[in-house]
Amino acid sequence: MAYQRVEIPRERVEQQEEIAARIAARFAAEGRTVTAMVDTYGCQQNESDSERLRGYLAEMGCTFTDDEFAADIIVINTCAVREHAEQRVLGNVGALNHTKKARPGQIICLCGCMVQQKHIAEKIRMSYPIVNLVFGPDEIWRFPELLEQILTGRKKRVFAVETQDGVVTEGVPRARVGGVKAWLSVMYGCNNFCSYCVVPYVRGRERSRRPEDVVAEARSLVAAGYRDITLLGQNVNSYGRDLGGGTDFSDLLRMVNDIPGKFILRFMTSHPKDATEKLFSTMAECEKCAHHIHLPVQAGNDRVLREMNRGYTAAQYLDKVAAARRSMPDLVLTTDIIVGFPGETDAEFADTLALVEQVRYDSMFTFIYSPRVGTRAAAMPDPMTRAEKQRNFDRLLELSNRISGEKHAAYVGKTLEVLVDGENPGEACPHTSRTKSGRLVHLRGDAAPGAFVTAKITDSTTWALFGEVVN
Ligand code: SAH
Ligand code: SF4
Repeated sequence: MAYQRVEIPRERVEQQEEIAARIAARFAAEGRTVTAMVDTYGCQQNESDSERLRGYLAEMGCTFTDDEFAADIIVINTCAVREHAEQRVLGNVGALNHTKKARPGQIICLCGCMVQQKHIAEKIRMSYPIVNLVFGPDEIWRFPELLEQILTGRKKRVFAVETQDGVVTEGVPRARVGGVKAWLSVMYGCNNFCSYCVVPYVRGRERSRRPEDVVAEARSLVAAGYRDITLLGQNVNSYGRDLGGGTDFSDLLRMVNDIPGKFILRFMTSHPKDATEKLFSTMAECEKCAHHIHLPVQAGNDRVLREMNRGYTAAQYLDKVAAARRSMPDLVLTTDIIVGFPGETDAEFADTLALVEQVRYDSMFTFIYSPRVGTRAAAMPDPMTRAEKQRNFDRLLELSNRISGEKHAAYVGKTLEVLVDGENPGEACPHTSRTKSGRLVHLRGDAAPGAFVTAKITDSTTWALFGEVVN
């Protein structure tokens, strides 16, 4: 697999926009109002990719719907990280047989990580004839061209999943969801090959956007009124290595922090092996940077961590946590954990519980291990039964909920600044908001999305805080 960085020239992206305009003209000439639905699975990177798909669809003159019976074009942006998401996608695609019958001419597109896997693309080719267009994450930038082949009847089905290039595109239009929070991809792909993970196979090698492009986009987001910007990458701590220009992630953080205006700056995900003291001190010094790190530990046992190919021991991980907390005593720490990695014993799992007790995460995402075709872990002996894994998972969840509940309870009575970012229509707390370090606060009182307000925390649960606006 010879991956190389391929920067798509701006003119080629502009050509795609010309095709989108041609499609819009075609719909208008036919007197049609074309409705599109974009359904997104998986991580924030996929959310961000879906904004680009919607950006193109908007340029084609489409209006948007959530109802698959009302949609002329359906795009399902898929995730491959766990089997469960794949099964849901296949189930939902199967169900589209009905919508396509009810709405002849409906075009069904599948894109994203899941279809980038050969065995899945083949399955769709053979068993899901209703799907018209299949394209991998690196082909999103040429969605108009691919779709046009179907719309003009030139082709009945198009599969664009074979390429292995590490694409970087600038200038693809975006239709963002909401006006307060924005995703900003700073890099794509991953080089880490954790033994359980499919991401490096479906997203290719790490490639960073140029710092000036990231800063320009951040600047335009701030100018457009966005107040909560999250820099995205599978492993942001290795940002810039491929550019060789001397700008690392801490430098990038500082460059975005220096953009004038009031906003919160977040990022994810940090790989623990690459998190440095420089990163922690930069976070502490940058006044817009949230004191929050999502630092996935995955397991607390050294043998399991080694088999996972994570590149750190539990002790090294704990050292990083201690260093981060020294720089930011108010740090909010979250993590991901996999339960039931092949060969993990109950005694090894107990090390995960002990690590969680020691670190006391503010919240955690916990997953039962899911074998992924082509990964190293999928070939490892896995004697533990599903029921035993579920039992361990439940223990971890119980512990995690207890700690989150305790951490949240400690906020009650405090007064702090929050950013109002959404609404809970009809609820006693009609607004949603976030603390600077990302805790969810359901809010009573006078507030409008996009406003920073002072809130008094009055109540808490395992998952959220409740508060009222004070002035
Ligand atoms: N790049 C990020 C995570 C990407 S995937 C990182 O390294 O932190 C998000 C999470 O999904 C991972 O942190 C891991 O906990 C989980 N995950 C990935 N592959 C998995 C698998 N095969 N089974 C179960 N969980 C998995
Ligand atoms: Fe997957 Fe590991 Fe890369 Fe994260 S760092 S995307 S878990 S291979």
